[in-house]
Amino acid sequence: MIKAVRGTRDLLPPDTGLWNFVERKVREIFARYNYHEIRTPIFESTELFARGVGEETDIVSKEMFTWEDKARAASEKTQTLTLRPENTAGVVRAYIEHELGRSGLLQKLYYIGPQFRRERPQKGRYRQFYQIGAEVLGPASAGSELPIRDAEVLDMLTALLDAVGLKGWTLYLNSVGCLNCRPAYNQALREALAGVKDQLCADCRRRAETNPLRVLDCKVPADQPIIEKLPKIADYLDEDCREHFAQVRAMLDTLEVPYQVNERMVRGLDYYTRTTFEFTHGELGAQSAVLGGGRYDGLSEQIGGPKAPGIGFAIGEDRLVLALQAQSQEALGTLQAFIIPLGAGMSRHALRLARELRSQGITADVSDESFRIKKSFETAEKLGAEYAVIVGENEVQAGAFSVKKLKSGEQTTVPRAELRQFLQS
Ligand code: AMP
Repeated sequence: MIKAVRGTRDLLPPDTGLWNFVERKVREIFARYNYHEIRTPIFESTELFARGVGEETDIVSKEMFTWEDKARAASEKTQTLTLRPENTAGVVRAYIEHELGRSGLLQKLYYIGPQFRRERPQKGRYRQFYQIGAEVLGPASAGSELPIRDAEVLDMLTALLDAVGLKGWTLYLNSVGCLNCRPAYNQALREALAGVKDQLCADCRRRAETNPLRVLDCKVPADQPIIEKLPKIADYLDEDCREHFAQVRAMLDTLEVPYQVNERMVRGLDYYTRTTFEFTHGELGAQSAVLGGGRYDGLSEQIGGPKAPGIGFAIGEDRLVLALQAQSQEALGTLQAFIIPLGAGMSRHALRLARELRSQGITADVSDESFRIKKSFETAEKLGAEYAVIVGENEVQAGAFSVKKLKSGEQTTVPRAELRQFLQS
């Protein structure tokens, strides 16, 4: 038997109902905040991620699906391509390529789509997973650097989590400084690490030299007590970063968005500056981060574009769905009517009634004449239908149908014209 590849999975009904519900809410809420959708390619030049995400990150150094793509014509070159491990670099590349900053306005963009990382699969961690993300970026003259952007992004996230009904999340917040103050912090980290790095894991020993900030991402338990004692970024923020962070926090306080400052949260991607954040959820076990994001004021320039500060986030859709499933069993997108033709030649009448009801916004399915009525009722129950509607010769002639409420077994005759109202009540 050929099976889905390790780390990938099929999403099947009824789960896909929840995925669709989440995506509908995303489109609805993000539109209210004036975001518009962007769709970028699923593969890009490897160089985009190497330069954008950072060579020393776990993503780039270990997890990318990369291949040599051979030239097929004289006009083509062999190139190194990568399945996107995240979508921010792709969005910023598109921003640069299409000169989206030329309008002078902020660009508020969102995406929904698959991402690929060669991680060790486990619950909540897959090699193909889905992210829902948004980015707000633009020239500094459009206010892209201002704390209000950070606060609005976080406000939108809480509105979305409310709309999908996720409860019990925690927002962790930090500032990782900027290109101006980070070198001093990196230096302090290097110096502190020089004394202790021999006690750390092999990855951390390497990172201590190449990119000390990444040591803070380390998940190896034995390393944690040592890492806890390293210098804290908060003590190294310059005046502007300190003020920016204070303003973001003040706005969140006014919006009554609860958060906790977590000084170790530097997030696993190199492009972050200033505000970084993560929402976690208790139901998710080891993979507790539902979403993460932050500011990336230098990313555009890092990949060859104009100055275009911005902030964004990515929600792990797989994890959001898992968390929602863990907290409620509420059925989504229930079948309102199961229409049962009774007797020979009644299928076409059943189909016609189904079409009528569907056009009026009712979710309906149809049985067929080969089913005995008892079996049709059983099927209706298995499908979770609310009502069964019987379409027999007499019903069609009378223009009124026998409707059974499946939960209670109660049966009523309802005139055709009142059917929609009855089914929706
Ligand atoms: P990142 O792009 O690493 O900042 O991740 C943003 C969010 O994407 C995380 O908080 C997770 O919810 C989700 N995520 C990242 N990697 C995976 C994965 N391998 N499988 C499932 N979800 C993931």
